[in-house]
Amino acid sequence: TEEMLRKSDKLSVLGQLAAGVAHEIRNPLTSIKGFLQLLESKAENDFEYYEIMLSEIDRINSIVSEFMVLAKPQVMHLVPTNITELMRHVISLIETQAILMNVQIYFNAEDDLPVISSVDNQLKQVFINLLKNAIEAMPDGGNVFISIEREENDLVVSFADEGCGIPSDKLPSLGEPFYTTKEKGTGLGLMVCYKIIEDHGGRIQVKSELGQGSTFKVVLPILSIA
Ligand code: ADP
Ligand code: MG
Repeated sequence: TEEMLRKSDKLSVLGQLAAGVAHEIRNPLTSIKGFLQLLESKAENDFEYYEIMLSEIDRINSIVSEFMVLAKPQVMHLVPTNITELMRHVISLIETQAILMNVQIYFNAEDDLPVISSVDNQLKQVFINLLKNAIEAMPDGGNVFISIEREENDLVVSFADEGCGIPSDKLPSLGEPFYTTKEKGTGLGLMVCYKIIEDHGGRIQVKSELGQGSTFKVVLPILSIA
């Protein structure tokens, strides 16, 4: 109907505006950060405030980038995606961080998985967020097991960690904006994951045992792209 059309018009204008604002916030931040780093390198004695200012800038930056995912115009550019390759790429991006945190990543994918259609950059973002959360749940190190399997008409991507786990009364809070238990968390990562996977017609399931670890399962429908 006309009313619905008008609503979605408004949404996309808002989305574009938000993306624009995010972009405009990032540019000055980048230059402030650059000059702060310069000052820091020239400072005579260690001045801990620089470190705080730099990490606060990084925090604004991550909030802005997570919001940009949501603000992007709602047209999805689906491309044929080899999830196994995408995951290998994500693991290579995060590996150094994992090694630093004493975390070993194991990856196992079934052979001959079908190609799916996705907005590959968005899926990448989801896998990065889930893998980072798994690593961050194990401050003393541990293992993350990633697997990709076919289950009937779905691809199931699992991230299992041996971390702190999530209390069952907190499970409903996952994905709520700004829900975080981390000192430097944004509490936006899972919200973005849920939104992206929902846009792809999929869902995310969480199983967790306090002190034992958590498993995040991304279930994605295999759609024919013919
Ligand atoms: P952030 O990582 O910035 O805190 P997220 O939205 O990614 O925000 O996660 C929200 C919260 O969910 C985390 O702060 C943490 O409490 C919990 N969480 C997410 N993933 C895990 C995990 N693998 N193990 C334990 N807790 C988790
Ligand atoms: Mg996170």
